[in-house]
Amino acid sequence: MILKLLLLIGIVYAVYYIFFKKKPISGSNRDELQGSDMVECASCGVYSQLDDSILSNGKYYCSKECLEKA
Ligand SMILES: [Zn+2]
Repeated sequence: MILKLLLLIGIVYAVYYIFFKKKPISGSNRDELQGSDMVECASCGVYSQLDDSILSNGKYYCSKECLEKA
């Protein structure tokens, strides 16, 4: 009976382990944003792809010009 209980606990633990392991690890400070997400330029208000924008002091800029203007 105890072995059956241990097995059950083991299965539950394994399921939880797999579930947490499946979660994507976000090592960046970009929160939930994806590279293809559109972000608003803090200077001119133009939306550009996150991959193409420049992040400075927590704000996104569409170009180097806007970053220098701000
Ligand atoms: Zn801009």
